[in-house]
Amino acid sequence: MSVLDLARPEIRAMQPYSSARMEASGGQVFLNANESAWAPVGDDGLGCNRYPEPQPAALVDALAALYGVRREQLLVGRGSDEAIDLLVRAFCRAGEDAILIQPPTFGMYAVCARIQNAGVIEVALQDDFALDVDAILAAVTSAVKLIFICTPNNPTGQLVPRASVERLAQALAGRALLVVDEAYVEFTDAGDASVADLIDRYDNLAVLRTLSKAWALAGARIGTLLANAEVIALLKRIMPPYPLPLPCVEAALIALSGWGQVNARNHVAIVRNQRVRMQEALRQLPGVREVLPSQANFLAVRFVDAAAVYQQLLAAGIVVRDVRRYPNLGDALRITIGTPDENDRVLSELKKAAIGGRGFVGKPASGDYA
Ligand code: PMP
Repeated sequence: MSVLDLARPEIRAMQPYSSARMEASGGQVFLNANESAWAPVGDDGLGCNRYPEPQPAALVDALAALYGVRREQLLVGRGSDEAIDLLVRAFCRAGEDAILIQPPTFGMYAVCARIQNAGVIEVALQDDFALDVDAILAAVTSAVKLIFICTPNNPTGQLVPRASVERLAQALAGRALLVVDEAYVEFTDAGDASVADLIDRYDNLAVLRTLSKAWALAGARIGTLLANAEVIALLKRIMPPYPLPLPCVEAALIALSGWGQVNARNHVAIVRNQRVRMQEALRQLPGVREVLPSQANFLAVRFVDAAAVYQQLLAAGIVVRDVRRYPNLGDALRITIGTPDENDRVLSELKKAAIGGRGFVGKPASGDYA
């Protein structure tokens, strides 16, 4: 059985759009795509009057080298958000199939499923936010086509052990595609906790990576799916013809150059140090109940009165993420690790609140806090 047997049959059968750029490369005079013959003002040699390559060869090569996979095992798109959407659309029949997620987790998996009218089966993370592999396997029905695992998990920060990923991939062979979202994996203490090397062993394993976090390119929207070559080829059939704007590809190539890599690694090292420092400092504050251990570039922090802290920080011009709507995080805010100066500002605001009585100490949201 091929992993493609899990995909929507109509997607496998359909005739994909054939773009002008796909049909003819080579040549010197391009009169096949109704483009302008003149570059726009300010183009500076970039060539934005022409449609870009659907999968720019230089970027594909750089990403394949970075992630240690072969070119045909890689699809680059507009953020990993696009890859999530493509996977759901290619594998889930509307009104019939489903995805499986483990809340609290990244919201886009469920949103993409709902847009496709696919079901969303939820298997909650355990109380310590560890993955419950047995519960996941018990919940997989024949309708479940995709299982999303987020590691480190957003918004809690925990890493899923490699052994759990392997166990799931093995148990799901021929039944479902396991999608491991590694958006934050560069920030882990281990440095390289990626399971990308396992895609050669399990044809039902896919890995999502992004340049939005450690590579500082959220604004360029470059995300990558690593998977079995057949899965990649299938998704290429339904992807819009020219997903990657030329200026974004240029920005990515610079970020991935030798100099760009040194720069990114320096910033990741700062984030790791600041994460430890913020964890320790936040734990000392009287209004803080708990700082969840994190392997990502953020900390989920439980407060005595998270709503008051959120407002207090906002009034000081500091915006954090209110994650109280997530299950098991009803008292938590997610704070991204910033520059050392930005982190200082967070701490000094929270200290002010603790000392000045402007907010959260001794005023628990529920009466159970001792
Ligand atoms: N996965 C996770 C876990 C995320 O937190 C995010 C963004 N916050 C994404 C994927 C999407 O990232 P992007 O589309 O920027 O690559």
